[in-house]
Amino acid sequence: MRILDFVSPAIVDIELTQRCPQRCSFCVTAASDRLNKTREELSFEHLISLADQLQELGVHHVFFTGGEPTIRRDFVKLVKEYLDRGIFPSTSTNGQFLNERILEELYSIGYTTMHFSIEGPEGIHDKITDMKGSYGRAIKNLELSLSMGFLSAVSSVGIKDNYDYLPELVNELVKIKPKAYRVLRFFPTNLESLALLPSRKQVEENIPKIYDICKRQGIPFFFKLSPGLLRERTPKDVYEICNSCEAGKIRLDILADGSVVPCKFFKTPDFILGNIKTARLQEIWKNEKLRPFKGLNPAEFTGMCGKCRNKFNCYSCRAIAYNITDNLCGDDVSCFKLRNEKRQKSA
Ligand code: SF4
Ligand code: SF4
Repeated sequence: MRILDFVSPAIVDIELTQRCPQRCSFCVTAASDRLNKTREELSFEHLISLADQLQELGVHHVFFTGGEPTIRRDFVKLVKEYLDRGIFPSTSTNGQFLNERILEELYSIGYTTMHFSIEGPEGIHDKITDMKGSYGRAIKNLELSLSMGFLSAVSSVGIKDNYDYLPELVNELVKIKPKAYRVLRFFPTNLESLALLPSRKQVEENIPKIYDICKRQGIPFFFKLSPGLLRERTPKDVYEICNSCEAGKIRLDILADGSVVPCKFFKTPDFILGNIKTARLQEIWKNEKLRPFKGLNPAEFTGMCGKCRNKFNCYSCRAIAYNITDNLCGDDVSCFKLRNEKRQKSA
């Protein structure tokens, strides 16, 4: 096995909290079976020590995730500390806790990019988030941020319950003019959540519609191509390709309690590599448990993925493969091609 041994990870997600008033049906954190105790959240001091270590490692970009990152009272202070160390922390927010004061504080320290998560038009969004009024608050704060000069973008996680309504959402967003719109891939973490996957028809019908609206209105549109979708049926200049899984090879995720994993979509404790409360990130990055990730090669995939000619560039998710088949090299059962072949076999 050839091991790709980079000096440091390039992608680091930091889960600032697991707290969130919304209960989105697709949420990986809400589905977490590892950690539900918000009192175990990393302290401000832990997160600053982590920033120092990331700076030493030369990491200059992180993603603040949650839960809802802005629920933390020290959110602005944390952003400032990371910026002071030359580390840019991207944040996606549900927009429920923002207000003029917080946005002004962020703007004054030079932090002007926020990603708002909006999952559909009002009724659909409030249903998916299980929180009445959440759409109205998110839109209000999105508008406020844009009026203050933020480069705010919007993203939606594409699932079966919202895909058909995303063009309608985009028609509403056109009036607000976010700086970009993005449809994100849904990552199922267990067999039950497979039911939330959109159908191929939903994706292939709605993505071109969204593309047309965005193009007409001058809103940059991005769409992460899921494995097994036909590129030729997808407008060429919208999809973002990532050829292979980054987990553990160039990516580490830090969970709210400080546990470090190759990617937060691994939903079993098997791959907890250590905890930043007790170990330095530099040491954790050398953990032997990362060898299968650093040496992961699609040539060694098994099952239907192993036989597939697209395996080198389809962005199959190794967490889905592991969570469902117990094998890092097994099938990514969320793949459209694979689901279609399975359907045909069972028909
Ligand atoms: S079958 Fe596996 S390797 Fe082929 S496109 Fe789907 S996920 Fe990728
Ligand atoms: S395990 Fe899945 S979600 Fe995580 S980096 Fe790999 S492809 Fe992406």
